[in-house]
Amino acid sequence: MIVSLKAGADPAAVLGELVSRGLWVSHVERSVTPGGAVHYVIAPHSAAVGIDEIAEIEGISSVSTARSPHPLVDRLGPVVEVAGVVIGDGEPVLMCGPCSVESEAQARAIAERLAPLGVRFLRGGAYKPRTSTYSFQGHGEPALAWLRSAADATGMKVVTEALSEASVPFVAEHADLVQLGSRNMQNYALLKAVGRAGKPVLLKRGMAATLDEWLASAEYVLAAGSPAVVFCERGIRGFDDSMRNLLDLGAVALLTHVHRLPVIVDPSHGAGRRDLIIPLARAALAAGAAGLMIETHDDPARALSDGPQAVPLASIAATLRSICGAAGAPKGGVS
Ligand code: PEP
Ligand code: MN
Repeated sequence: MIVSLKAGADPAAVLGELVSRGLWVSHVERSVTPGGAVHYVIAPHSAAVGIDEIAEIEGISSVSTARSPHPLVDRLGPVVEVAGVVIGDGEPVLMCGPCSVESEAQARAIAERLAPLGVRFLRGGAYKPRTSTYSFQGHGEPALAWLRSAADATGMKVVTEALSEASVPFVAEHADLVQLGSRNMQNYALLKAVGRAGKPVLLKRGMAATLDEWLASAEYVLAAGSPAVVFCERGIRGFDDSMRNLLDLGAVALLTHVHRLPVIVDPSHGAGRRDLIIPLARAALAAGAAGLMIETHDDPARALSDGPQAVPLASIAATLRSICGAAGAPKGGVS
């Protein structure tokens, strides 16, 4: 976006007006034309402020825009509605449940414990992306039905991952929010297939993806027909193996405050250890996250995947109270 100033306008005052409207000025390039007009170059990032509004700022003579590589993402806005749940309105939305859905009884018992705490989304994988082919791969289609019936019985919504194009129809039939996993953030055929299913999507950040790549992937999903994308920061690869990943809260601040998009933070995969979930979740909300995804298991020591990062069901109420007590009650309230 290039903003031209009227001759004699005060550049500092114009800059102040732009910043106060939430625009991030990546670099200010001051050039003076032979006619004396001063030009400022402003990062073409935000859909939150319309060109007309910018053009009306005192001292600006004209605004021209470069074409955004993700126009549909730019139009999304910070608040989306998924199956009647508003995400991004200031009240944290909680998504909890096991890493893998292990049985019908487990899904039901976990949902019954979570629903009264104000957790709006029941999470759990029916199809699991595992590093080793010998690890538990998920119960597949039956697990989708267990998840759906547990959620329906308790008034919750379902978020679950579509791992392959073949699974998209089943996942879309059972999920309110279709999760696209970290390993698939740049699986463009899958992004298109999930988009075509017409459901809102939770797009996890690839573990080595830049923010531009993440935004570009969201554009694929929206362009293919999905009504909304919710971003999920779950940690990226760092050099330090003391934690599973490096939870990038700078990315959360940038996406929420600059791009004005809804971001959920997943401290479970971010840290890979349950003892860090409370501080990381608090930090995530402080950075602007619209909600949290936290893995919860009835018996973490026996979990078929990601046990070390799962909060035991017995302590999830205290965990959520501790997180949300600092940041305001979540949707539905933690009792
Ligand atoms: C998950 O949510 O269990 C999962 C596999 O997440 P990610 O894609 O972030 O690794
Ligand atoms: Mn997991």
